[in-house]
Amino acid sequence: MGLSIQIFISLILSVVVGLTLGPDSAPWVKQWIAPVGTIFINLIKMMIVPVIFSSLVTGMTGLGDLKKLGRIGAKTFFIYMGTTAVAILLGFASAFLIQPGVGLDMGAATAPEIKAAPTFMQVLVSMIPANPIASMAKAEILPLIVFSIFIGSGIIAVGGKKGMFLTNLFDAFAEVCYKIIGMIMRLSPIGVFCLLVPVVVTNGPKVLLPLLSVIIAAALGSIAHGLVVYTPIIAFLGKMNPARFYKAMSEAMMIAFTTCSSAGTLPVNMKNLIEKLKVKKEVVSFVLPLGATINMDGTAVYMGVCALFVANVYGVPLTMNQMIMIMFTGTLASIGTAGVPGGGLIMLAMVLQSANLPLEGIALVAGIDRVLDMFRTTLNITGDAAVAVAVDHSEKSSDKELIEKMQEEKEMNSIIK
Ligand code: ASP
Repeated sequence: MGLSIQIFISLILSVVVGLTLGPDSAPWVKQWIAPVGTIFINLIKMMIVPVIFSSLVTGMTGLGDLKKLGRIGAKTFFIYMGTTAVAILLGFASAFLIQPGVGLDMGAATAPEIKAAPTFMQVLVSMIPANPIASMAKAEILPLIVFSIFIGSGIIAVGGKKGMFLTNLFDAFAEVCYKIIGMIMRLSPIGVFCLLVPVVVTNGPKVLLPLLSVIIAAALGSIAHGLVVYTPIIAFLGKMNPARFYKAMSEAMMIAFTTCSSAGTLPVNMKNLIEKLKVKKEVVSFVLPLGATINMDGTAVYMGVCALFVANVYGVPLTMNQMIMIMFTGTLASIGTAGVPGGGLIMLAMVLQSANLPLEGIALVAGIDRVLDMFRTTLNITGDAAVAVAVDHSEKSSDKELIEKMQEEKEMNSIIK
């Protein structure tokens, strides 16, 4: 039986077992089942820094120059931002359709504390690691990307025997990382089960049913985004059969669904793209870590849905100005959201505040955030992979053009001679 099927079965099983056990067994589940899930998630997390560092350095040496990296970076960033803005619109659209929260009683809910969003310059400064080891220790992905790019450029600049030695060393290390991820993934059916049972036990039907409309709107928006945005990107920009894409992605998608962490899913996502979809290592190793940090379309859908939900609960009709503001801050918020469980909830505060919507609404969303997080994280990592497929194809085309140009020049030279 394939691994994706095994994970899927354990997903279903965990819902059945979780519902059967019910909320009374929560302490027992927390003591005996949840830790096994944590062990599994820690095993995957263990590989985040080694796999990004080794594969990005290998990717750099494979690209051979910074110009190419700049080109890939520009393409990637452009598609990431465009898809995120569309995601918020789709969030709005599905929320307008479902109208979540109409007629809901707010009750006595209190809003969590809001962190101030960092300024643009602060973000820029924090991207340069003063101490790369400290950044690695904290698994800060953006500084790690910057450091890896420097090491890769250094190796290219040194060149010769020494450069070759280090290129081979990092290449071999990256290979080892992918093998280890493969071994860890064999445990995923157990890991997924143990991660989900506690979620089902604590979020039983009692917690979920009153807010089912928000969950449906978020799920609908996420599915619509996958169909309307990613499928064409994969088929037309990536020239890949979407069915093949989604089949190969199913493992990573299920891991995202259960762990609710883009950063945590990153090693599995990278491995799947390279091994199953044959996307070039140098593209994957740059596009994916960047995407896991700044590209969160699922989170953007969620911002749109939740903003309208809060507006509905408090009976505040959203104006065009407010919606534009939500789109703008929502895109920024999704860039700033950390790829960890619940990262988006913190940023939702910023979005609601920008549109002058009552922050107390967050307390309602917080109750079901774990479930909403499952959908948004799945979409988040799928988007990164879809963009990687598109960028890979366009790079292949530009490589082909370059080779053809070189051949033409060669022919011209021989004619002249
Ligand atoms: N959990 C999401 C992720 O890791 C982030 C979020 O909370 O929106 O992609």
